[in-house]
Parts: sequence; C-alpha cells; structure tokens
Amino acid sequence: MAVSAASALAANQLHDGRLLDAGWRLATGNAPFCASTSPQIGLLLQDVMLFDQPALARRTLGMAGDFTIAAVAQDSPAALARLVPGQEVVAVGNQALAALPAGQPGDFRRLGKVEALMESTLAKHGTVDLTLREADGSLSQRSITGVRACRGRFELRNSGARAEADGERILIGRDFAAHLPAADWLSEAEFAGIVAHEFAHVILAHGAWLDRAGRDDAEIRRTEREADRLAIWLLANAGYDPVPFAQLLGDWGRRGRNGPPQSPTHDEWAARAAQARTEVAAMRAALLARGVADWSRDFHRE
Ligand SMILES: [Zn+2]
Repeated sequence: MAVSAASALAANQLHDGRLLDAGWRLATGNAPFCASTSPQIGLLLQDVMLFDQPALARRTLGMAGDFTIAAVAQDSPAALARLVPGQEVVAVGNQALAALPAGQPGDFRRLGKVEALMESTLAKHGTVDLTLREADGSLSQRSITGVRACRGRFELRNSGARAEADGERILIGRDFAAHLPAADWLSEAEFAGIVAHEFAHVILAHGAWLDRAGRDDAEIRRTEREADRLAIWLLANAGYDPVPFAQLLGDWGRRGRNGPPQSPTHDEWAARAAQARTEVAAMRAALLARGVADWSRDFHRE
C-alpha cells in the first residue's frame, strides 16, 4: 500500500515537473512581450491535505508538516537554489506554515493562500525567504530571487484528460499528462505546443472576451484559431521548434487517441494545421526582420 502510494506520488511529481518545465520556459521566454509579468522562482507547492489519504502521504514522504515541493522548473531560480521535489517547506518569510489553520481534505484555499504569500513577497521585494527541511531533518534557509515571467499558473488536475484554461490558469488533466512523453503519443515539443495553446488563451484574455461577445460556436472558433496561432510565437520564444505542434494538429485525427472529437467549436484539424503552418512562416518573417518574435507587435488578432 505504502509502495503504491509512493509510486503514485512519484508519478505525480514527474508529471507536475514536465508541465512546470514547459510552463516555465514559455512564461520566461515570452516575458519581454507580455503586458502582465511578475517575479517568479519556478516552484510548485503541494498541500498534503489535497491527497486522497493525507496521513499515508505524510508517512510515505516522511513529512512533519503539510507543505512540500511538488515540482521545480528546470534552470529556474528554485532549481539553482537546489530545491528538490518532495522537500518540506516549513516557512515562507516569517510565516510558519504549521501555524496556518488546519486544512480540510480537498480544500485548495489554504494552498492558494501560501502561493499568494510567496507571490506578494516576490512582487514587493523581488526575493522570497524559504525555510526548508533537509534530508537529515535539520532546517535550512534559502533566499531566492525571482526572474520576470508572464502571469499564468500551470496546474495539473487530479482527474480528466482535457487541456483547458481559465482567466489565469493553464489546466492539464493527469490522464492527459500521463501519456507523456511516450514516443507514439506526444513528444516534448508537441506537449509544449498544447501547453502554449492553453497559455495563449490566458495571455489573450479569451475568457473575458467570450464573456462580452457571447459563447456561440463562431466566437469560440475565433478564440481557438488565435490560440493555435499565438502558440507558434510562444513556442519559438521558449526555444521550442513550433513545427511539431503544427504537424500535431494535422495528425491528431489520425492518431485518434485521447484527442477531442471534431467539434463545432474548433475548425477542422486540417484547417488548424494549415493555419499553424502559415503562422510559422509569419513568425519567421518577423524574426528575420526584427531579430525577435515580438508577438505584441507582429501577431495579428482576428
Ligand atoms: Zn483552446
């Protein structure tokens, strides 16, 4: 039992890590062009109360408290400070996390408060002090300086196979992420493309736009086309080749696994692939002309 709990936790950490790595590259690579940015350190926390069996998870992880590191983005300030997944976070600044009110199973608000405290500290000082528990049980402090990143939270959902976005979050279902990066399903660049598509919905504030314009099929299709096209620019600035994402759109119907069925809210797969290829050419032309893929100037909205 403890073994399966441990391997489930390990799998969660792996998938959290892959999503956070892609999100971090996209959010920092595009920071020069995002209207809304904040200092971030590339760290994803978890509250043990959100596990199905908090007591078992606590024992398995050998935790004294409730908060641990879920994932650390590659090459982020958190990674450079040698933070590791599974490590317990004891305090954020002067706030001892054990002093927070006891959490309820399934309640995300407590974790949200801790994340908000890290964010507001970084926004105010550019740096956040974390107290961590080391493998030998001793406590250590790290002072970590944030780097500028586009706003947006990258989160794995505990269930579901969908990728979606709301006003500020990019949400990927664990069943979706669980296929990564099996060679017959999604490569790293293809997965990054899906994350970039959802991130584009956040950057372009499509949720608020649809609230005003109305959510009929034609309007939704418009936002979906924009997200496919902006994803090409976001990928390029994050150092990913955008071509595999354009190809993925064309292949999706053929692969036929876990892809959403053709729906009235999205264009045909072949049309989406053709638009994405056209956008690759537009992005490369802008890159040649200016030396940067500045979508804030050169991306054309519908
Ligand atoms: Zn979409």
